Amino acid sequence: MAWYSGAKKMELQPESDRQNAIRPTQLIFHSIAAPWSPERVYEYWRDSTNLESHFGVGFDGRIAQYIGTQTRADSNMYANERGDGTGAVSVETASNLKHTDPWTDAQVSALIKLGAWMHKRHGVPLRICRSHGDPGFGIHRMFPQWSDGGTACPGDKRSAQFRNEVFPGIVKAAGGKPPKPGKYEPFPGSAWFKREPKSAIVTAMGKRLVAVGCSRYSEGPGPRWTDADRQSYAAWQRKRGFSGADADGWPGKSTWDALKVPRVS
Ligand SMILES: [Zn+2]
Repeated sequence: MAWYSGAKKMELQPESDRQNAIRPTQLIFHSIAAPWSPERVYEYWRDSTNLESHFGVGFDGRIAQYIGTQTRADSNMYANERGDGTGAVSVETASNLKHTDPWTDAQVSALIKLGAWMHKRHGVPLRICRSHGDPGFGIHRMFPQWSDGGTACPGDKRSAQFRNEVFPGIVKAAGGKPPKPGKYEPFPGSAWFKREPKSAIVTAMGKRLVAVGCSRYSEGPGPRWTDADRQSYAAWQRKRGFSGADADGWPGKSTWDALKVPRVS
């Protein structure tokens, strides 16, 4: 059980004792769509729902912690607790009712300090998560696996602040340099494609499939995953020596890495 000394400890029971242990590898920021103090967030978790986050941050930058960071908490769907024992730590932040407002300066500095602590205490690497399972820092809306298929949380203003202020601030506060992003798009996971996503990653993949002579497109490629993408990808799998169910057109990690899709994120 790890408790952040910069937070007011408001341990939530019975969740704190009953929920499974995790090894935290990610820190994910949210907006709670309510202008609540950390104490009000605690009451909400205690009285109104069986969900909860690890942390709550008020407009004034005060932080409360409800669950130890080595215990599972909710808010991040499939990232809360994984089969390999890892999980994400969740931070809810006060916002307006539609979470369209930016974080206050006090919130930004609180999130930076908390992020630097997560790096020091739990070894969360100083990078923005490259996939839903990748260790690092993120915001809720980044991956559909972190919610029930997608969310607008936090809003656009906070999304920009995360990239331009909060994450760089965490790197600086932790005394590190951000690793250079790789040249190629990391494998998003097979399940991601099965949701028929609309993404620049799908377009970039399609262009590579065309370039390696595996096009089955009559138009495009475009951002929405279609059967033409699947047929083209299956041709690529066959070209790499796969057959039968291994060449079903749903991307897997080894063929994805071999395809060298240029990074778009
Ligand atoms: Zn959220």
